[in-house]
Formats: sequence, structure tokens, C-alpha cells
Amino acid sequence: MPDAEALARLRDAASTCTRCPLAAGRTQVVFGVGNPSADLLFVGEGPGREEDLAGEPFVGRSGKLLDRLMWEEVGLTRAECYIANVVKCRPPQNRDPAPDEIAACRPYLEEQVRLIEPRVIVTLGNFATKLLLESSRGIRELRGQVFERGGARLVPTYHPAYVLRAGGEAMAEMRADLVRAKRLLAERDP
Ligand code: URA
Repeated sequence: MPDAEALARLRDAASTCTRCPLAAGRTQVVFGVGNPSADLLFVGEGPGREEDLAGEPFVGRSGKLLDRLMWEEVGLTRAECYIANVVKCRPPQNRDPAPDEIAACRPYLEEQVRLIEPRVIVTLGNFATKLLLESSRGIRELRGQVFERGGARLVPTYHPAYVLRAGGEAMAEMRADLVRAKRLLAERDP
């Protein structure tokens, strides 16, 4: 059973985290948002400036695109899914999260996955995909496929910030990945 109270306790514990240097530059920890018993979990990279200020993942331009595609292709709102990130604090100047920061934050994400028990995980971009699949292969190679991860199916797709830059084919591919996630969600338990 998904455990909403344990998730709330984990959020509280994370809110004062000082496990890595990102703690020094954050406004607040961006733990995650959505339904604690969601069937569908999205995992992004890390908060940007707007997310750091709002305390919520994907509230900027990337987030608007994610909300739109999630609605158009899966038929769900962000309140019905759960959205988390690989790192919970904003890297300065929106640089990539460093390996030690990802490692320090990983237990929070793993615990989120364990407590939410999603049936489908959609990883957004290289950082989330490589971490959760423990793979060194890049997103271009991995997307278009479905992986087993614990009790969940994992669908890698592009990060929406990349799709905003690349448009066209990348947008179509991300839509196709989300349709794949929707089909998996519709599959009945055996
Ligand atoms: N990009 C991410 O990966 N996560 C966010 O929360 C916002 C932008």
C-alpha cells in the first residue's frame, strides 16, 4: 500500500537536508508534488530558479509543456500523477547536478518510489534515466523502450526543456513515449 504519511514524514526530513553543497544555495527543498498513491511517477533532473522559489517541481516553461503533454497524451493532471526530481535543491546557475549531489539525494528519490509504489515511471532526460536504470547509455538510445524496474515499468523520454529547444521530431517522440506510458497504465494487473 502506498504510504502517504511516511511520504509526508520524508518530506519534512528532506526540508532541512544538508547532505550536499546544494543546500547552501537553495531557497527551499523542492521535494515533489502530486498524488502520494499515483500510478504514474515522473522524474526530472532538478529544480530551476522558478521551482526553487515556488517549492514545486516543473512550474516554469518546461513544466507548462509537461503539464500539456501529460494531459493531451495520458489524460492526467499533475495532481493525479506524482512529479519528483533527481536532486531536490537547485544547482547554481542551473548547471547539471554533480555526481556527489546525485548520490547524496538518491535515497530520497528511492524512498519516494518505494512509498508511492507507482506502476509506471517516466524518466525525463538523461539524469533520471541513467540513475534509475543504472545505465551509462544516453536517452536517445534508451527512449522508445520499456524497462522493468522493481515492480514498476520504466519509460524513458526526453526532458521537456530539450523538447522546447528541439521541437518537431523530439516533440513527436515524447508524445509517443507518453502514449506508451498510458497504454501500460491501462494494462490490467495479471
Ligand atoms: N527541470 C527539471 O528537471 N525539474 C524541474 O523541477 C524543473 C525543471
